[in-house]
Amino acid sequence: ATPTALMVGTGRGAQLGILIKGPEVLETTRKADTVVLDKTGTVTTGEMTLLETRLRKDAGAAGEEQVLRLAGALENASEHPIAQAVAKGAAQRYGTLPAPEDFANVPGLGVQGVVEGHAVLVGREKLAEEWALELPAELAEAKARAERAGRTAIVVAWDGEVHAVLEVADAVKPTSAEAIRRLRGLGLTPVLLTGDNRAVAEAVAAEVGIAPEDVVAEVMPEDKVSVVKRLQDEGRSVAMVGDGVNDAAALAQADLGLAMGTGTDAAIEAGDLTLVRGDLRAAADAIRLSRRTLGTIR
Ligand code: ADP
Ligand code: MG
Repeated sequence: ATPTALMVGTGRGAQLGILIKGPEVLETTRKADTVVLDKTGTVTTGEMTLLETRLRKDAGAAGEEQVLRLAGALENASEHPIAQAVAKGAAQRYGTLPAPEDFANVPGLGVQGVVEGHAVLVGREKLAEEWALELPAELAEAKARAERAGRTAIVVAWDGEVHAVLEVADAVKPTSAEAIRRLRGLGLTPVLLTGDNRAVAEAVAAEVGIAPEDVVAEVMPEDKVSVVKRLQDEGRSVAMVGDGVNDAAALAQADLGLAMGTGTDAAIEAGDLTLVRGDLRAAADAIRLSRRTLGTIR
């Protein structure tokens, strides 16, 4: 294409809410045949809500207030969408949360620290396992039930005991299913990629028309990039759409990185292209635009 056509394409992109880092990006956009989609914050709104607190049943079990105060206190120090949901839910129910005496983020797993003298963890069952803790049967059941319903189940433990499972959920963006249909129509294969549980991921995939075999779940943040590499090794030209700090490396590795404009600065810096409004349909617009600009379709 002529430099003029590229500039026109770039300008038209801006009108569509697509910011392109340079005209050369249009060429990789045109070639993409696979689109890897981060789940939380990309396909879903990322605005999670705390729905239920499931408590262990034995004598001496902690009450909901203590569970939510300790969990909320730790999550209050994290910016993760799940953390925000837990902190907000806890504060709404029980007022001001204590300040943690110690806090650490465990990427892809949760948070841990000290609150009111208790060593507390909030996160995936895997994090509890790292502390050599097991879920009592009633909590394991509650967790499985929540996940079958497409909710994310978070474990709360302190002082060597798993005390509760919290159920959080976010909604699929109303535009995601249409966007994925349009991407398919352009000949791209969508793949859903997430650190979340497989049952939750498959429930979201079903809602937006992605087959279970195209879901890659329970992926640690540092492994998202390996998933992109693996697809590239299969000879695919990979577009990756993401919003989180966790997605930055994968966005940089992808042939084409598309960052949600509503996401983190790290993702936006790593991407080749920004979808300003955080609407996945703009990913399909970007691919159509580049093909038009470079003369593949009219
Ligand atoms: P995604 O890839 O969907 O954006 P993440 O990699 O950020 O998800 O997180 C993966 C999983 O780790 C979450 O689904 C959740 O189970 C757990 N997790 C991560 N951070 C937290 C936190 N602050 N509190 C509770 N759970 C967390
Ligand atoms: Mg995300």
